[in-house]
Amino acid sequence: SASKPHETHRLDMEGALTARDRVGIQDFVLLDAHTSETAFLDNLKKRFSENLIYTYIGTLLVSVNPYKELDIYSKKQMDIYMGVNFFELPPHIFALADNAYHTMLAEANNHFILISGESGAGKTEASKKILQYYAVSCPSTTLLDNVRDRMLLSNPVLEAFGNSKTLKNDNSSRFGKYMDIQFDIQGDAVGGHILGYLLEKSRVVHQNHGERNFHIFYQLVKGGEEDLLHQLGLESNCQHYSYLVQGECANVASINDKNDWKTVRNALSVIDFDERDIQVSCCHTACGNSFCDDIHSIAYCLLGVNVQVLQEGLTSRKIEAKTDEVLSPFTVDHAIYARDALAKAIYGRTFTWLVNKINDSMENKDSSRKTVIGLLDIYGFEVFYVNSFEQFCINYCNEKLQQLFIQLTLKSEQEEYEAENIGWEPVQFFNNKIICDLVEEKHRGIISVLDEECLRPGEATDLTFLERLEEKLDSHPHFVTHKLADKKTRKTLERGNFRLLHYAGEVTYCVVGKGNHGVRPSGGVTLLLNVASQFKSSLLGLTDILMSKEPWYVRCLKSNESQQPGQFDDVLVRHQVKYLGLMEHLRVRRAGFAYRCRYDVFLQRYKPLCPATWPYWRGVAAEGVEVLVQHLGYLPDEYKMGRTKIFIRHPRTLFATEDAFEV
Ligand code: ATP
Ligand code: MG
Repeated sequence: SASKPHETHRLDMEGALTARDRVGIQDFVLLDAHTSETAFLDNLKKRFSENLIYTYIGTLLVSVNPYKELDIYSKKQMDIYMGVNFFELPPHIFALADNAYHTMLAEANNHFILISGESGAGKTEASKKILQYYAVSCPSTTLLDNVRDRMLLSNPVLEAFGNSKTLKNDNSSRFGKYMDIQFDIQGDAVGGHILGYLLEKSRVVHQNHGERNFHIFYQLVKGGEEDLLHQLGLESNCQHYSYLVQGECANVASINDKNDWKTVRNALSVIDFDERDIQVSCCHTACGNSFCDDIHSIAYCLLGVNVQVLQEGLTSRKIEAKTDEVLSPFTVDHAIYARDALAKAIYGRTFTWLVNKINDSMENKDSSRKTVIGLLDIYGFEVFYVNSFEQFCINYCNEKLQQLFIQLTLKSEQEEYEAENIGWEPVQFFNNKIICDLVEEKHRGIISVLDEECLRPGEATDLTFLERLEEKLDSHPHFVTHKLADKKTRKTLERGNFRLLHYAGEVTYCVVGKGNHGVRPSGGVTLLLNVASQFKSSLLGLTDILMSKEPWYVRCLKSNESQQPGQFDDVLVRHQVKYLGLMEHLRVRRAGFAYRCRYDVFLQRYKPLCPATWPYWRGVAAEGVEVLVQHLGYLPDEYKMGRTKIFIRHPRTLFATEDAFEV
């Protein structure tokens, strides 16, 4: 039988405001027919000023970061939203989580929640609220409480090792995270699995001014127990460690490293890390602390290798001469590079090991059938004064997610109307495929050029890479360099940089970098290993994972640049509304049809409601549906007959039909 649409707006569309939510309009679809961008922003702002940070566009949830604690995430609030139809209560992240959950159970299929927005917009907070909702609200058996605890506690651990203070966000995710939450047939959360994407390892050895290394370093140094620090050969003062103080902000007002260490240590023990595992993770972290300053501790205490061997390895290269081997010393720069590369590699592997251990502890070994809700929380689009390889990957990732959103909503929706011959005024939108192609296209895209350059070790340099790009992309509308720019733009671009016109704004990337700070990943030594290419394949893998599931969207907006509570920066929010395509999404939603169903399926489900179609309709299914809906009194404006499907504008029409069964 046809399942109920998951957009279950039981609400009377005109009387949309509930007593608890009288400020602004809670679903943009209900705003005036020709909503302007200004009206859209006014509505967001009005609600924001009343601490109503959530608003719907149909089933898409828009969230504006309040930068202050709101009393809307308690267990009591969770109970209010549990099992209630989407539009019966004020918009909330719990409503979206709940609706995805109940649809998953009803339709027995897999779903994902894509949380997007720029750095600091509130993605990680949103994903934590969703996870909490599932962990606290779903039915539970005591046996499985363990799994829930582990799922919840994986967060502080991964944030300690994978997040850091940046100029955009005091708790910025420096890795991408996709987490499957597995449910059994009863709807019990029974297991989880995390995929991690490209950790920003360069941060271990280099931080810009005003930024920090990963949180765990400061937690360990400031909060680590005396015994532990002694064992690791660590001092309890960050100032002793060059890797921790480059950004000159080891202390951050909004962060309590000492307390956070306690939370992390406790979390580690709950998710099956025994004392030895904790030691290992601390050891590897301590390596990161000490590398610059204390090679003896590193060698003896932490890696368990001979100090002379380590020293030689980091400062020289073995060359085979006729009869024996000689050591050829590195230049100072080269030795520094080798040291940094080792520190990063150790940290990167520790992180991977950590994710694997967490996965082991959340694994559900029971082979019974499960469905999943995937949560995607990835680093947001970001622009700094100097943008390097990591920003290039992060922003490329955001382009891909925007492309996925476009394909699944704006494009496929309109293509279906066209294919079904539904009269339709197309909505224009900016398709960022052109930028995705610019980065990833075979033979011509930036990653491809990078690959080719990586195959010419010894010959390729940062500058030859840039020249190749200029040759291949000289007339591309989204790619500019000093050489290709017009006179006016040239003034803003240094040689050795290139600029991409991303969907979310312009970003200038630095190609010529010392060590790892350019777009060409880590120059010299690791040429043969193109990280960008690997990242591209892992993103393609992620896209496949997502495409096989039903989507839900949370679009997070940053309210202001200075992380101030309650401030709403009109220009900043307007910019995000624009590039996230929210107006276009609204137009498509508003003019579109909330529900569609193949004629045969529709007829099969509703034929008992009409004497002419019950028990059989012997003619063409489409004609049967026409007879059926005439009998039910559908008005001409409420539905359209396509080639193979009936399209129904408002869910309320279908509700009335469902209710007719009960009469
Ligand atoms: P990044 O891409 O840098 O990881 P993000 O989108 O994940 O950014 P968050 O870390 O979720 O951003 O949010 C940044 C900060 O904003 C949080 O640390 C918190 O202080 C505040 N914040 C976000 N969402 C909320 C919320 N719903 N309520 C209160 N504060 C919030
Ligand atoms: Mg985040």
